[in-house]
Amino acid sequence: MSKVHNYIIVGQGLAGSLLAWFLQKEGKSVYLIDNQHHGAASAVAAGIVNPITGRRFVKSWRFDELLPFAKQTYQEIEKELRSSLFFERDIIRVLFNNKEENDWLARSIQKDYQNYIGKAEDIDLESIIQPHFALAGIQNSAQVDLPTLIQHFQKYFLEKEILLQEKFDYAQLKIEDKQVHYKHLTAQKIIFCEGQQAQHNPYFNYLPFVLAKGEVLIVKIPDYHSEKMLKHGVFIVPLQDETYWIGATNEWPAYYTTESPTVANKTKLLDKLNQAIHCPFEIVEHKAAVRPTVKDRRPFLGLHPKWKSLAIFNGLGTKGASLAPFWASHFCDFLIHQKDLEKEVDINRFN
Ligand SMILES: Cc1cc2nc3c(=O)[nH]c(=O)nc-3n(C[C@H](O)[C@H](O)[C@H](O)COP(=O)(O)OP(=O)(O)OC[C@H]3O[C@@H](n4cnc5c(N)ncnc54)[C@H](O)[C@@H]3O)c2cc1C
Repeated sequence: MSKVHNYIIVGQGLAGSLLAWFLQKEGKSVYLIDNQHHGAASAVAAGIVNPITGRRFVKSWRFDELLPFAKQTYQEIEKELRSSLFFERDIIRVLFNNKEENDWLARSIQKDYQNYIGKAEDIDLESIIQPHFALAGIQNSAQVDLPTLIQHFQKYFLEKEILLQEKFDYAQLKIEDKQVHYKHLTAQKIIFCEGQQAQHNPYFNYLPFVLAKGEVLIVKIPDYHSEKMLKHGVFIVPLQDETYWIGATNEWPAYYTTESPTVANKTKLLDKLNQAIHCPFEIVEHKAAVRPTVKDRRPFLGLHPKWKSLAIFNGLGTKGASLAPFWASHFCDFLIHQKDLEKEVDINRFN
């Protein structure tokens, strides 16, 4: 007789990988199914963990709790996967006018922003940034190398023989009250972590996803010597071997007709990069993916309203790197220890 797993997880992006990580830590058996979809967000993201975002310099939701939890989780994963994944990097943000500078100064004297206000200068960057109005420094920010994390988790799950690399076929799922069957697999629950592909999931596509396409360039910039991330219209994020992540564009569903990279967006990114720095660079790669963004910008956690053997962990939106560890662990507490889900993330909020 075939083994009954505690959980089948569909999707081995950031959400599925971290959920599997926490469930396994609690001694549960998991089995993952993933088809390495070309538009998967985790394979394209920079993994910026940014405490202060947007035009109005607003502190990210629950950041004081999310950051230490994320740091501890990624550092534990680094040890297990024997790979460097979590990098503490300050952000230098270019301010374009008087109003922005005033808004920034107003934020920088607020008590609950103190931990995140960093040094505004960076000698290594100053010589290559285009003329600018002023600079703002952000600290206690970080970068998680999400594409490497996904690749290493993939290898890890394959070695444990708990990853099936194929497209999940919803028509073959048989649902019972206390278990599900899928082909040769049986589990107590199936948890869907499909990112933007959840739009094709017949059980959860009623949730209000508002997907946003993003394109990025990977470029080589030999004269960029800083370890910091620079936000100058676009983000410039250090990778390895003089390469940098440049991005990203943002397009709502009504405005894109393909999930692939486009010439128009490449031009847009190149224009922005030229406006940001005045040293030579060479394009290495141009990539696109779709973010699993949602209407109220809060993750989707919970059980299907009718079939309690179906669950979802999704909606990580534009901030998966900081959100995923905390909420994956929270979901485990709900699934295993029957703790209540916080109302703000529970999909019951849409019932
Ligand atoms: C351009 C861009 C830049 C970004 N930058 C940042 C950033 O700097 N910082 C940050 O925190 N976040 C960033 N994000 C957001 C971040 O990438 C996401 O929040 C996060 O990666 C989502 O992870 P996920 O696992 O939910 O989805 P995904 O990464 O999309 O993973 C879903 C997985 O499910 C699989 N799957 C789906 N359907 C099926 C099926 N039927 N059968 C089998 N497998 C299936 C797919 O193959 C995929 O591997 C960015 C996103 C984009 C697109």
